[in-house]
Amino acid sequence: MSDIRLEMVKKNFGATEVIKGIDLAIDPGEFVVLVGPSGCGKSTLLNLIAGLETITEGNIYIGGKRVNDTPPRDRNIAMVFQSYALYPTKTVRNNITFGMVSRGIPKADQDAAVAEISTLLQIERLLSRKPGQLSGGQRQRVAMGRALVRKPDVFLFDEPLSNLDAKLRIEMRTEIKKLHQRLGKTIVYVTHDQIEAMTLASRIAVMDNGHIRQFADPKTIYEDPVDLFVAGFMGSPP
Ligand code: ADP
Ligand code: MG
Repeated sequence: MSDIRLEMVKKNFGATEVIKGIDLAIDPGEFVVLVGPSGCGKSTLLNLIAGLETITEGNIYIGGKRVNDTPPRDRNIAMVFQSYALYPTKTVRNNITFGMVSRGIPKADQDAAVAEISTLLQIERLLSRKPGQLSGGQRQRVAMGRALVRKPDVFLFDEPLSNLDAKLRIEMRTEIKKLHQRLGKTIVYVTHDQIEAMTLASRIAVMDNGHIRQFADPKTIYEDPVDLFVAGFMGSPP
């Protein structure tokens, strides 16, 4: 059974059709990377899966359950954005536990979760700092910590590394890959970086203008693109 399934999903903003009938089935534990030109609808598609936008037509299933009308907090999903949106006046610890506090989770459980996640992400020494005292890479780790602490089954990443410099991007890419291998969660990950897509993905979905042109493993996308668009965007040189 697939973990995330989209059935003829459409999204209009006013009169503009932005997602034009997408079918997509993502297996549990898969790392799906979504690529495509700016404005093709990648962020919108993630927002529809997360429930941050409502779909105009079609169905979305998560873990077998139809979630068209399910609010984001009940979808068992966590999202990490390009801009980390940490609370500037809160410490790293309180940024991570913020959601737990509002859900009334006991202090001891919060502490245990922070200990586990800060070890995983190697941010133990940063817990009492404020976001302004962190580097870009450290902030990105904290943002991931805040997503992980919710223990979702599905992670959505929207260009999480695009604000980082090249060296850090490579380092974080490796860490995200390791994290996926350790936790085995389902990930949908948007990037405009072809190398990131090739190294992270179990399958790549190439999007163009509200459609998915091809959904296949990186080798197939690279060596056997279905059309000139995919070839030009991701394929090997002719
Ligand atoms: P991508 O992430 O691939 O760059 P987006 O999903 O952000 O693309 O946007 C796809 C299209 O939908 C763009 O043309 C964008 O202008 C439009 N769009 C996105 N969000 C909204 C919105 N809230 N209202 C109106 N148009 C939007
Ligand atoms: Mg986007």
